[in-house]
Amino acid sequence: MNAKRQLLGLGLPELQDYISELGQPAFRARQIYKWIYEKQTASFYEMSDLPREFRQQLDEIAVVSIPRVLKQKVSNDGTRKFLMELDDKKKIETVVIPQSGEKNTRYSLCISTQVGCPVGCQFCATGSSGFQRSLESHEMIGQYLGSKRELMKRLKQNDENIISNLVYMGMGEPFFNYEQVISSIRILIDPQGVNLGQRHITISTSGEAVGIERLAREDLQVTLAISLHACNDELRDRLVPLNRKYPIKRLMQAISDYIEITNRRVTFEYIMLDDINIAKQDAQQLIKLVKPLLANVNLIPYNEVETLPFKRPSGYNVRQFYQWLVDGGLNVTIREEHGSDIEAACGQLCIKER
Ligand code: SF4
Repeated sequence: MNAKRQLLGLGLPELQDYISELGQPAFRARQIYKWIYEKQTASFYEMSDLPREFRQQLDEIAVVSIPRVLKQKVSNDGTRKFLMELDDKKKIETVVIPQSGEKNTRYSLCISTQVGCPVGCQFCATGSSGFQRSLESHEMIGQYLGSKRELMKRLKQNDENIISNLVYMGMGEPFFNYEQVISSIRILIDPQGVNLGQRHITISTSGEAVGIERLAREDLQVTLAISLHACNDELRDRLVPLNRKYPIKRLMQAISDYIEITNRRVTFEYIMLDDINIAKQDAQQLIKLVKPLLANVNLIPYNEVETLPFKRPSGYNVRQFYQWLVDGGLNVTIREEHGSDIEAACGQLCIKER
């Protein structure tokens, strides 16, 4: 039996081509596009403005795979972690984070790009739980549609923009899956479909320099974030093993070219690990690297993982490191903590089902 054609992830022109191959007029493609991207509908039978026989035909030959939410955990701060199941039964975790404590707040969605992650950062639960495969673009778009559907249902909210920000920062290294990530973004920003603002999308890389160089030429207005975490090769080789392939000098060259080409501000993410990367000397190295660039630094006090040896620094040490950077002339923020009580915070996502 032939596999069914996946319609999720097709742009409107490709969907129109497919629908006309089936002998239907082009406006049917627009109807289906709307059902999928505006109403998060995966069942052709629910697409009530399509002729009944056509709905039946589509059901036999095509599919819209919005991942199923198997479980969800809700944090004290309103962050939700969804365990989703893909068509091949692999599991991924996706997190939605409220933007404020208010009742009808909007959410940021943290998208996974791979099942597990091959980079193997030492402090990260995802990295230590192995790598299975990269996701298709429709599986990333599906995380958005599935999370939105679940949020609207659970919160009984009809806000079409309930998810207003996306960060490609969940499980996986987005630039190891470059084409699929970019293709998912192009669908999610399409004004005829989901219509997310490009400036509300961030791609976070652990330092894949070639991906940064490619992104610079995409003519996209998304934000680039780099998970730096260490400012000398000796330490970064240990914490983020991708550094052995793209050492700091090579990485910084790619970033500075990116800024020159796009004139866009980048964000450096810096996970703060007690006794590892927050000494005065680390602050001095960070200032030296970042100060010449159009960039912000986002400090993330480490969220401890039971099976890993790293510790979260004290509040005093976090503030002291922050102050050294500010005094050195950097734009710095300390990231508010979300979802650590349900292991949904940065570096805590894992493929094992809990
Ligand atoms: S921190 Fe990111 S890049 Fe590193 S292992 Fe975890 S998921 Fe992969």
